[in-house]
Amino acid sequence: MTKSLIALFALLPALAFAAPFSVEKIAPGVYLHHGQHKDLAPHYGGDICNISFVIGNNGVAVIDTGGSPAVGSQLRKSIRKITKKPILYVINTHVHPDHALGNAAFKQDHPVFVGHSKLAETMAQRKEIYLHNQTEWVGADAAGTELIPPSLAVSATHELDLGGRTLRLTAYPVAHSPSDLGVFDTASNTLWTGDLLFIERTPSVDGDVPAWLDVIEQLREVKATRTVPGHGAVTANGGAALDDERRYLTTLLTDVRNAIKQGRSMEDQTRPQHGRNYHHRCTIGAREMVAVRRYQPPQRGAHISAFGVGVGRDLLPRLIRLF
Ligand SMILES: [Zn+2]
Repeated sequence: MTKSLIALFALLPALAFAAPFSVEKIAPGVYLHHGQHKDLAPHYGGDICNISFVIGNNGVAVIDTGGSPAVGSQLRKSIRKITKKPILYVINTHVHPDHALGNAAFKQDHPVFVGHSKLAETMAQRKEIYLHNQTEWVGADAAGTELIPPSLAVSATHELDLGGRTLRLTAYPVAHSPSDLGVFDTASNTLWTGDLLFIERTPSVDGDVPAWLDVIEQLREVKATRTVPGHGAVTANGGAALDDERRYLTTLLTDVRNAIKQGRSMEDQTRPQHGRNYHHRCTIGAREMVAVRRYQPPQRGAHISAFGVGVGRDLLPRLIRLF
């Protein structure tokens, strides 16, 4: 490589996607970008979840914005290549950084930011730690990150009219997280679950497992032609994916309850010799699920995990209502 080429690469922006930022048309007026199955780490901007947009006669709704303004602006550029219609709504399916920290890229469009009625409060609680950790998570792509709370809060159900299609929003009780919002597009029968459904990836738990199992049954009732999970492939068979997730969460719940009864700590329980290895490839379910570090004890001595949740010995009882 010549010196001038090396110099050129040095000038490239920090956001370096392995492949060009791609969006896929999954139904008329419905577009999706698949994030990578990775943990948050510098050089891909927190681009690890599914982010989407839906085009109606009157304008566009964005569903999740990625893990940094850099990813959000890649999504915005993709929208602008496809339509000049106004971006009316930016919906966050929940508070997690990979889904909501790209919001700032859309401020210039003056959209209505939409989320669960608990989202603003949850963002406020986590703001300091998320902003503090963002540089570690995404490196230089952290520049310009803001937590932008919803200006339209959904506490039960709400409909957004995009013109010729309606997005039906459903706010769920604490399940995967404290702020889970489902989205259903009436024109294409597409359901976005946010992280209430993971496919090909171990679910992260930041809420209440028994309540999540209840919500899985509610999602099953939605008669969707296709389901877009928070992470993983779009599926025409949402029921099978929900079955896989139910099996994983049920097994986790049973194992953890047993571990607590036997007085084992979370650290003990997640050692492979004591049972299932939750944080490497997980073969519970039909597919291999790529691991996340959810059940590892803190690595850097802090009592804060990647998503700002305390990972102390008291966490599992809090997550898994034992009584
Ligand atoms: Zn996620």
